[in-house]
Amino acid sequence: MKYVVVSGGVISGIGKGVLASSTGLLLKTLGLKVTSIKIDPYMNIDAGTMSPLEHGEVFTLDDGGEVDLDLGNYERYLNITLTRDHNITTGKMYQHVIERERKGDYLGKTVQVVPHLTNAIQDWIERVAVIPVDDTNEKPDVCIIELGGTVGDIESAPFVEALRQFQFRVGVENFALIHVSLVPVIHGEQKTKPTQAAIKDLRSLGLTPDVIACRCFEELDPAAIEKIAMFCHVGPQQVIAVHDVPSTYHVPLLIAEQNFLGYLTKRLHLTDIEVAPARQ
Ligand code: ADP
Repeated sequence: MKYVVVSGGVISGIGKGVLASSTGLLLKTLGLKVTSIKIDPYMNIDAGTMSPLEHGEVFTLDDGGEVDLDLGNYERYLNITLTRDHNITTGKMYQHVIERERKGDYLGKTVQVVPHLTNAIQDWIERVAVIPVDDTNEKPDVCIIELGGTVGDIESAPFVEALRQFQFRVGVENFALIHVSLVPVIHGEQKTKPTQAAIKDLRSLGLTPDVIACRCFEELDPAAIEKIAMFCHVGPQQVIAVHDVPSTYHVPLLIAEQNFLGYLTKRLHLTDIEVAPARQ
């Protein structure tokens, strides 16, 4: 199983969901079976009790799960059917660990965020990632994990730590991280400093970006790409520009043009995965 994590920095609502869905769609074009997990670092057990005015559409899954609208995007982009377990929230994870504590699963131990909650998050991801999500009823090849919120927030800290540990649990060739950042324009100039700061925050938490996806109003200048690559310690091919487009359905093409798939294929050894002839 390969895991592609999509996280975000600088601001919320930066386009992580759209990038995660687009990444999944492009991976599907290689014949791979793709599933997805959305992590929402809020305390609610699910989105069902949240105001749509504050949170946007509450998406209802086939199993009755009331979840974040991003799950709806995944189902539409990837033509898959997800379950309520594909949406992880802080509330759901704490409930799970506390129920196990009451059952006596940790008898004698002091139950802590690290390692008990972080282990539970990793176990949950591994369990849910292999659930078949399409009519082939086969185990997926790739799981896209979108980490909601912004890296560095108090809320997402246990998830960031769990993912930091997870990269070693599953092996570096099975785990890639895409960090979505913002390149604002000030007095006509594309500013790279917020991205530099966001990547510094990410690295300080033990996560290394494989791809930095830069959200910007207009196409990113080659000079800005060079600068981000240099200051963020990545190659220029690892910096992709995702400028504003009239429809988010253009985003897969936009990133495909930047050899995004070529990079991910090499990084995750995707050619080693056997693809059924019917899907090639
Ligand atoms: P996040 O998951 O980071 O909260 P979303 O993926 O939900 O962000 O995107 C936030 C908003 O930005 C949505 O309304 C989405 O349609 C829009 N958006 C994202 N990427 C683009 C893009 N490249 N061009 C135009 N709008 C975009």
